[in-house]
Amino acid sequence: MSYDDQNIFAKILRGEVPSTFIYEDEWAVAFHDINPQAPDHILVIPRGPYVSMVDFAMGASDDEVTGFFRAVAKVATAAGLDDDGYRILANAGPNSHQEVPHLHVHIFGGKRLGPMLVTNFK
Ligand code: 5GP
Repeated sequence: MSYDDQNIFAKILRGEVPSTFIYEDEWAVAFHDINPQAPDHILVIPRGPYVSMVDFAMGASDDEVTGFFRAVAKVATAAGLDDDGYRILANAGPNSHQEVPHLHVHIFGGKRLGPMLVTNFK
């Protein structure tokens, strides 16, 4: 899947859509999800134009990959989630219900999150 630079996160990165970054560095930015699914629900996105984890991990430089995952860890820690725990999730493609085609890691926390998946595959 090719990258669509008109997706909402690309617009947020370019400053065309207002958003409050709770973290930003050379490699990544983080902001609160507009429709939170947990008391803490943060999105971390790489600055580069990557659709999915495969696109990112195979196409990005080592510095980008390292910088992005360090950013995820820094954001989770800064949000105070490391002691009680949190969940990270990255949707990719139609089976995952990925809505925004720019790689993003969801960080969920702030309560007992329960079993990993809501739906039962059977
Ligand atoms: P996905 O289903 O692609 O993994 O998740 C996309 C997430 O982006 C959803 O949780 C949705 O609430 C969030 N989202 C969509 N548009 C915006 C927006 O304009 N601002 C913010 N902060 N979050 C958004």
